[in-house]
Amino acid sequence: MATIATDACHMLIGGQLVESESGAWDESLNPANEEVIGRTPAAATAADIDKAAKAAEQAWPAWAAMGVSGRGEILRTFGSRLLERADELLHVEVMDTGNTIVPMRGDVRMGVDSLNYYAGLGHELKGQTIPSTPGNLHLTVREPYGVVARIVPFNHPVMFATARTAAALMAGNAVIIKPPETSPLSAMVLAQIAREVFPPGVLNIVTGSGATAGDALVRHPLVKRIAIIGSTATGRAIQKAAAESAVKHVTLELGGKNPMIVFPDADPDAVAKAAVAAMNFSWQGQSCGSTSRLLLHESLHDQVLERVVNLVSSIRVGDPLDEKTQMGPVNSARQLAKVEKYVQLGKTEGACLLTGGVRPEGSAFARGYWIRPAVFAGVTTNMRIAKEEIFGPVLSVMRWSNVDEAIEMANAVDYGLTAAIWTNDINVAFSTARRVRAGHQWINGFGAHYLAVPFGGVKASGVGREEALEEMLDYTEIKTINVTLRRHA
Ligand code: NAD
Repeated sequence: MATIATDACHMLIGGQLVESESGAWDESLNPANEEVIGRTPAAATAADIDKAAKAAEQAWPAWAAMGVSGRGEILRTFGSRLLERADELLHVEVMDTGNTIVPMRGDVRMGVDSLNYYAGLGHELKGQTIPSTPGNLHLTVREPYGVVARIVPFNHPVMFATARTAAALMAGNAVIIKPPETSPLSAMVLAQIAREVFPPGVLNIVTGSGATAGDALVRHPLVKRIAIIGSTATGRAIQKAAAESAVKHVTLELGGKNPMIVFPDADPDAVAKAAVAAMNFSWQGQSCGSTSRLLLHESLHDQVLERVVNLVSSIRVGDPLDEKTQMGPVNSARQLAKVEKYVQLGKTEGACLLTGGVRPEGSAFARGYWIRPAVFAGVTTNMRIAKEEIFGPVLSVMRWSNVDEAIEMANAVDYGLTAAIWTNDINVAFSTARRVRAGHQWINGFGAHYLAVPFGGVKASGVGREEALEEMLDYTEIKTINVTLRRHA
């Protein structure tokens, strides 16, 4: 399998493609076979982070002063350059994450759509005039924070690094991206593209682990605004580190343990297909929005369960670069160990493993982070597989008999990211949606994100909303100006 040339792998700091000051390198492994496919500058040192923060601090005033049309044009150019190298980005991403190639074709496109969307929204960065007193003028203007850190998880690195920096850039900030340590290679391609498009220092990319590069970035005094997509534990660590270093604005897009609640009037075939698709097995269930708890009314529990097990056991696991593959390897040895731990826990807790949870057979799977997708039935709310985010290909099926019980089950977790509700009764659908504590919900749907529709969680799933106008406005601070008007005699 191809590798990625090391001399093409650099951080982007102040418009320069650079190695880490330490001179050390980290290896990136293909999760399908554990072969080295590229190297990235090892853990950006505090000195590297300091250089990136200073470059961003120097760059943002001119970037902000350029005006919305100028910034929008550069974001659109960035998008079109990404499309020119979309095939390369796709291959790097598939090899580095293990996600399957067909659905991953959408990831670069989503990044580009988001860049274009925010480029067009620039004129909404407006303030207000407020008629507070008759003799004066009270007005607000929106100003960028300055330097923004954007910390990215491993499941969709290129999409998050592009789609989720667009709003901050459009608002006039300079951004420092830290890609995930297990899948950093697409960010190395992004660094090359960004260098050609942005004024030096406006977009910077630093590599390394969360504990070193990530922590140094969060604590850097010039970094005023932080956004992380990652686990709840990481989000809390970042909030703490940010608070210890200064007063900072932090957005958290964190984990989920999302319910799909199925009412008796739903169509069992449609529900079974949706429940399997909603697990996002094409990226191995490593998805914050996967509805990994399937809450079935007792009247259709057995019918749906049988269909779900048939569908899941026929999922074609294999080489993620093969167009016919439906599920690849999980992202890393850490992920595999975590999934295996939860499969074991589910069994010891008394749930019934109906399919999967084992390494697939055959020489193709001798190395790499492979596990077959798993379905547990008989799951109850007290079990850890019902409460904790596995972030892997494990579906927990639960049974309920009345609506209060279903809602109690849905809300019986710390998380509150997404929920899917399946019924043909509009009253039941809406009243359930209002009672379920989750930030993003679908009625007779699942999984989809829509541009301009806010996405984000409640409870342990996070703080803030992204993917909409709110996100861009959230990268500005409101300044209020009161003008005392002189009265004419
Ligand atoms: P993770 O929390 O391990 O890492 C995410 C990023 O944070 C990585 O870049 C990592 O290096 C960095 N990081 C880790 N510790 C840090 C620290 N102390 N300081 C600064 N940075 C630090 O998450 P992951 O395993 O890469 O991704 C999986 C998690 O992401 C899941 O919990 C999933 O639900 C969540 N996620 C949420 C969303 C959402 O929109 N809510 C989307 C995708 C993934």
